[in-house]
Amino acid sequence: MAVTASATSSPFVAAIEPITATDDEIRRSLEDAEIPPLLPALAYATGDLSLLRDDLRPDPLSFSMAQGGLSEVQQERARALAFEAIVRFRDGGSQPAPAPSDEDLLRIMEYAVGGAAMAEYLPLLEEELAYRGEDRRAPGWSVDEVAPGTTFEVVVIGAGMSGLLAAHRLQQAGVPFVVLEKNGDVGGTWLENSYPGCRVDNPNHNYSYAFAQRHDWPLHFSTSDVLLDYFRQCADVFGLREHIRFGTEVQSAEWSDSDLRWTVRVRTPAGDEEVLHADAVISAVGQLNRPNFPDIEGRDSFAGESFHSARWRHDLDLRGKRVAVIGTGASAVQFIPEIAPEVGELLVFQRTPPWLGPTPEYHDEVSSGLQWLYAHVPSYSEFNRFCIFWKMGDGALHSVRVDPDHAGGGDGISEVNEFVRAMLTGYLSVSFAPRPELLPHVVPDYPPGAKRMLRDNGVWAGALTRENVRLVTDGIREITPAGIVTEDGVEHEVDVIVYGTGFHASKFLTPMRVTGRGGLDLHEHWDGDARAYLGVTVPGFPNLFCLYGPNTNIVVNGSIIYFSECGVRYILGCIEHVLRSGAAALDVRPEVHDEFNERVDAENRLMAWGWSEVNSWYKNEHGRVAQNWPFTLLEYWQRTLRPDPADFELLRLA
Ligand SMILES: Cc1cc2nc3c(=O)[nH]c(=O)nc-3n(C[C@H](O)[C@H](O)[C@H](O)COP(=O)(O)OP(=O)(O)OC[C@H]3O[C@@H](n4cnc5c(N)ncnc54)[C@H](O)[C@@H]3O)c2cc1C
Repeated sequence: MAVTASATSSPFVAAIEPITATDDEIRRSLEDAEIPPLLPALAYATGDLSLLRDDLRPDPLSFSMAQGGLSEVQQERARALAFEAIVRFRDGGSQPAPAPSDEDLLRIMEYAVGGAAMAEYLPLLEEELAYRGEDRRAPGWSVDEVAPGTTFEVVVIGAGMSGLLAAHRLQQAGVPFVVLEKNGDVGGTWLENSYPGCRVDNPNHNYSYAFAQRHDWPLHFSTSDVLLDYFRQCADVFGLREHIRFGTEVQSAEWSDSDLRWTVRVRTPAGDEEVLHADAVISAVGQLNRPNFPDIEGRDSFAGESFHSARWRHDLDLRGKRVAVIGTGASAVQFIPEIAPEVGELLVFQRTPPWLGPTPEYHDEVSSGLQWLYAHVPSYSEFNRFCIFWKMGDGALHSVRVDPDHAGGGDGISEVNEFVRAMLTGYLSVSFAPRPELLPHVVPDYPPGAKRMLRDNGVWAGALTRENVRLVTDGIREITPAGIVTEDGVEHEVDVIVYGTGFHASKFLTPMRVTGRGGLDLHEHWDGDARAYLGVTVPGFPNLFCLYGPNTNIVVNGSIIYFSECGVRYILGCIEHVLRSGAAALDVRPEVHDEFNERVDAENRLMAWGWSEVNSWYKNEHGRVAQNWPFTLLEYWQRTLRPDPADFELLRLA
């Protein structure tokens, strides 16, 4: 895909092309259409709100199903209506109508999601969708304007999705910065995870920056190489590479109470220590960046090859080998079906089975008809982004929330959650019909949402039911030079062990040493239980800002990019506040932080992941949910729109 200059803020979106297609070509493209965003996009593009016919509106209760739950007949009618609208648009010279009034826009959006009340969401969505290509989250200020002559330097740690975003916004505001990255390239997660089958679980039209959307994603769920390419291109197009120091790992950051600045110690590519100074530090080190190996006795004694999925050994030929995979989490469910056909024998060691959301298009390319519609129907791609945003975000949140009045008994958390559970159980029953004896081992005994829900297009059952694959559910007792011994005393001899055992998700900002006011050590202070205000600031650590920090992960498959975009805007707002006030730094007030965290904890306890006892990476060593945001996406946007000066103490040089 070539990056093109365009009239929009996205370097990936050329101006919508005028329609020259014949009637037949349009009809053929519409056969591939994603229906729920179709009529809303056309109403937006043409100004014809009569397209929003009540009988073709999705039902909010079935909105998360394929084609928004619309029947075949409804889909056909919607296509016919869309065909006429596209032909009229073409014959009128493909001229988009003026932007609708807020009232009309609200009507269009509410129709798109089946009638849910959207008034509160309107300003968020106008920003998130950037219908006309505007970059509405760009800082509306610059250092020269708010504090002329002031020097304020920022160190950003990490050049993954979040670090690149922070760098782009700092550059827009004219704030000098350097990005320190331990790897040799940008991309973080998508650089490091190159295992077979690695792909995003959130459809790509949603998993991309709002200001750098793509309409021409080749796959619905891109593989890691496509995502890496996207982030590399963002670094290039936004001119960020010259600010990044690669191969440079931050060892520590130390706040000086006298200078009101940070001292950052790094290990350079040559292995030397170097010291940098900065007014603010933005940690963009990710939650899922440090591979986790299970604490199993004898792990180092294994005589064969072993590696973690995030450090895939592409040099190792697995063909014909006896391979053990430990874990059946998000990565393992992606790579096991890929390696199963080539290895000699595959033993899958499972502690807890995952729930799988049926996703027939999971590995599919975006069809040519759909690509044509994205390229020619103005705002169709954006409305598609909106439908994904809703059905995988706030529109689904209620399905993983505990209903205290639910009288279902057992471990059910609500009527709707039990409905989802029944559907997903049905999917597993059908998938594993050829090997029904596996069913008791592959159907989870915890409510959907308590652990990360994974996607499947049939390949999971396809892999586990192969002749050369065996699911082992006995616990692991130890690892020996020859293989893995389970609790029943059986030694399973293998040549290779692959650890699909996730990351040190709750060990935020490790292994860096971070010391704040009065020499306070961040990790001693947290004691394994990381907390921050809005996931961003920690009392006692002035001008230290975290991205993808504590309690900013989401479970119902929204996009982390959305969180980082909100977080970065908030951080830029904090820096603006410091600069405008002539202070050197700000420090969040402990009572603000504590009250916020109490709310988060109370709410997390009412979510499937906090309520259920099942093991998951969402809980830290204290059993507290330190990862997840339990509220709506709307609430995070509202709370991070701009910092409230009353939440902070300003620090000034004596
Ligand atoms: C396999 C996998 C699949 C995922 N799928 C999805 C998905 O479908 N949807 C979704 O929203 N999210 C998904 N995620 C979460 C994903 O991590 C985020 O979407 C996003 O990539 C996070 O970006 P980040 O920049 O915050 O962190 P990262 O991508 O982890 O980047 C952190 C960067 O910081 C650098 N760094 C760390 N420590 C230091 C240091 N001390 N000094 C210098 N540099 C340092 C790292 O080298 C890395 O480049 C997935 C994660 C994984 C691992």
